Amino acid sequence: MGALTQAKADDHLTREIIFSVEPYIRLAAFGGVFCLIAVWEFFKPRRQMAIRRGWRWPNNFGIIALDTLLVRIIFPTTAVGIALLAESNGIGLFNMIALPSWVAVLASVVILDLAIYLQHVIFHAVPVLWRLHRMHHTDLEFDVSTGLRFHPIEILLSMLIKFAVIAAFGVPALAVLIFEVLLNATSMFNHANLRIPLSVDRILRWLVVTPDMHRVHHSILPLETNSNFGFNLPWWDRLFRTYRAQPASGHERMTIGIDQFRNPTELRLDRLLSQPFRSDGITNSPDNQDAKPKH
Ligand SMILES: [Zn+2]
Repeated sequence: MGALTQAKADDHLTREIIFSVEPYIRLAAFGGVFCLIAVWEFFKPRRQMAIRRGWRWPNNFGIIALDTLLVRIIFPTTAVGIALLAESNGIGLFNMIALPSWVAVLASVVILDLAIYLQHVIFHAVPVLWRLHRMHHTDLEFDVSTGLRFHPIEILLSMLIKFAVIAAFGVPALAVLIFEVLLNATSMFNHANLRIPLSVDRILRWLVVTPDMHRVHHSILPLETNSNFGFNLPWWDRLFRTYRAQPASGHERMTIGIDQFRNPTELRLDRLLSQPFRSDGITNSPDNQDAKPKH
């Protein structure tokens, strides 16, 4: 009985620690990985960029800030909070069966990664969801800032889906934190405009989705856009036959983006927000002076 009380007290302590350091872990991981990749991109770019960062980055980071703020305001709890709630109420698979905690954590990270792969496939396949997700694909360049640039409604929907998966599987809070920090970091890495030696990439892409692998997904060719859906683990694409090794035109010559919204003005924050509700895409007219490509 005493041991049980002790275990509960330890559990409580673990939660307190997770909650108190969580924001710092997230911020440090985001800041550290972002700076590292931004500097790396600067010295070892894979592609020459036609549109300057000075135009894209304020807008891309504007939408990332807006997403973060909206999630905070709209949801009364975080994904870690849902995991703790499920645990204390004995909800979800891993809260019902006895497993060593490291097994539950490892399995949960893999399950969450599979869920986000499937979610990504669905957001491409269902027209109304594609309207939301295509905003991520309308970036005309592909770099670290593209990685977290999603429409707020897609972010809110993803959060609800994640809550449901966490509750259904009884995902441990630690696994949620690991997964979210990992996804944040890998998303910046696999969208990076990085030149990684081909021999290294060939091995690395068996372990994690590499920039060369994910760049294929940002090609203007629908066949290529509808491949390489994975964010963390590269195995799902191979398993479900959505894997495409390289873009047909090569990484340096391929066109990034989709057919719609090709004017650089569409990279502006207000245009990004309204894209799901528009079928147009303003024309690429020469008299549009808003965002001139760099020469
Ligand atoms: Zn996509």
